[in-house]
Amino acid sequence: MGRVKKSGRCRLVSCWVRDIWEFYSFRKRESVDEYGRQTIFQISPSFDFALKHYSRALIISVMLPFSHEVIEDYMQRIPKEGKQGSSHLFGRMFKEVDLMIDKATVRTAIHLVSDDTAVVPLDYENCKNIFTEAIPLMHQGASHGLCKEGNYPQKSVAVLMGLGQFGVSRIVFRDEIADGKVERLVGPLYSIVMFDKDDIVKDGREGIIYPSKDWRSFLFRLSDFTDTDPEINKYRFCTYIPHEDEGCGKCIRCCPSGAQLNSAPAQNGKFTQHLVQQSHRFWERKLQFDFGRCFEESEQMKSLFPEWSCSRCVSCCAIEGNRRKYAADHFYKKMFELTRIRE
Ligand code: SF4
Ligand code: SF4
Repeated sequence: MGRVKKSGRCRLVSCWVRDIWEFYSFRKRESVDEYGRQTIFQISPSFDFALKHYSRALIISVMLPFSHEVIEDYMQRIPKEGKQGSSHLFGRMFKEVDLMIDKATVRTAIHLVSDDTAVVPLDYENCKNIFTEAIPLMHQGASHGLCKEGNYPQKSVAVLMGLGQFGVSRIVFRDEIADGKVERLVGPLYSIVMFDKDDIVKDGREGIIYPSKDWRSFLFRLSDFTDTDPEINKYRFCTYIPHEDEGCGKCIRCCPSGAQLNSAPAQNGKFTQHLVQQSHRFWERKLQFDFGRCFEESEQMKSLFPEWSCSRCVSCCAIEGNRRKYAADHFYKKMFELTRIRE
């Protein structure tokens, strides 16, 4: 990633590079100040110290894809029509895969620790702890927007790093060509932030993505499903908006609570009158996901059946969601082009 910026905040996202540094620094505080003098206090090196001491912040984003066999099994167990149906197998697989990648993230981060690096694995525990230690209460919870355990934008980071793309369902997935076919990968996401002293890579070496302005502008349009420009749409893994085809929309049709339908524009990119009237759900003209509907239903079922899990939108997209070969073929070339700076 690029040079550590002083203004580390990104709109509503209340956790970014500065906060991650401050969390690290607080955890590593010593009774020695920045000039090596003994003090009676425990000093946490400031973000200004990090800006002077390190040349860049590198972000590593990782996904461990779910097994297609287990998801397929789940798809067969839930009815095509009607709201009811769950599979504890999917829930169990989710937990196990999540735990594996969570642990692997921390173990990889351990290998990156050296005298010249400051490393923070953004695993489940650290994501949660950052919010009690580094983020003021007034930037948490509803003051940020609905979230799970923390406000660290794991999905947006994965998209920025080119690991995957947002679907209209707000799920991040990755399409790749394997044996001439499009393979869809979906699974839990984690990341590692490393402050180090190496040069900033701007030529795409070693697979490092430089988040240039052009790349960020492209992603911004790619993730906005009200933008139906074919020149953008053809790069989307998500086939919701038609492009020489009928368009997909299966995640919306299979959602039992209606949360997906209540969170997406129509396939022509326009919001229905019903959605436009819900003005409180728009932030800077972007419609926020209807977590209320999604959570209410599944939380009620979980309170009766602890192993209940919905995730129909994820499963349906992974197994039955329409693919776009052009996007799987050309997106990574586009990424390479936009993340290289010719100086
Ligand atoms: S998890 Fe279930 S209820 Fe929630 S958005 Fe996905 S399909 Fe709909
Ligand atoms: S199911 Fe279809 S419309 Fe939904 S996210 Fe996947 S590709 Fe897009």
